[in-house]
Amino acid sequence: MRSSLRPIGVLGGTFDPIHYGHLRPALELLEALELAEVRFIPCRIPAHRGTPQVTAEQRLALVQLAMAGQAGFVADDRELRREGTSYMVDTLASLREDFGQATPLCLIVGADAFRALPTWSRWQDLAELAHIVVMRRPGVAQQLPLPLEAWLAPRMTHDAWALHSKPAGAILFQPVTQLDISATQIRALLARGQSPRYLLPEAVLADIHDRMLYRSFSRENSVTS
Ligand code: ATP
Repeated sequence: MRSSLRPIGVLGGTFDPIHYGHLRPALELLEALELAEVRFIPCRIPAHRGTPQVTAEQRLALVQLAMAGQAGFVADDRELRREGTSYMVDTLASLREDFGQATPLCLIVGADAFRALPTWSRWQDLAELAHIVVMRRPGVAQQLPLPLEAWLAPRMTHDAWALHSKPAGAILFQPVTQLDISATQIRALLARGQSPRYLLPEAVLADIHDRMLYRSFSRENSVTS
């Protein structure tokens, strides 16, 4: 049976800064999976890397600029309003409170983030709260760590409508356009005085220049796990 409530996509990230590797796949998922919306949720304090040089408020402002005018895209500031490290399991619980028990939630993650799922806080609870939609990402091996493989098997679906028929619990690998773009690459280009133009929206790049963000690059601010 199909629920009358369309699923809500949840794309969490550091967005340091947001780029087309986030935006284009998110639009494809919005349309292909018939999601009600995709909520972009910048983290305040990331759990798996050093603290970004750019504040959470500035990263959120870049997200808002990036999506201006795109129907179905929502910038969600809930992690900025929560103290401490930003854990996705808490974010999904707070979305459940807002949207109720019946609304399907779809946690959207890149293949790199999915492989690292067992390092996330209370990761096995994630599928109690939401479906998980995995986007393939260039350069990320498809082989999964064994504990993840075993956890995935009973939850895996190839049917996008499974996401509409229950509120949580299914895992779907959805093809998206492969864009080999990362925020790390963009930060490195900016710090070297080179241009990341065409890797991210023009309005985002203009704001980065206006506010003189990402003038230096620190390895500490790259992903650590
Ligand atoms: P960094 O290079 O700083 O680690 P990032 O480019 O991976 O950043 P994040 O904000 O950490 O960006 O990513 C948020 C989510 O978007 C993660 O689930 C990540 O896997 C996914 N993602 C980021 N870039 C891409 C891409 N080019 N293709 C598919 N998924 C992506």
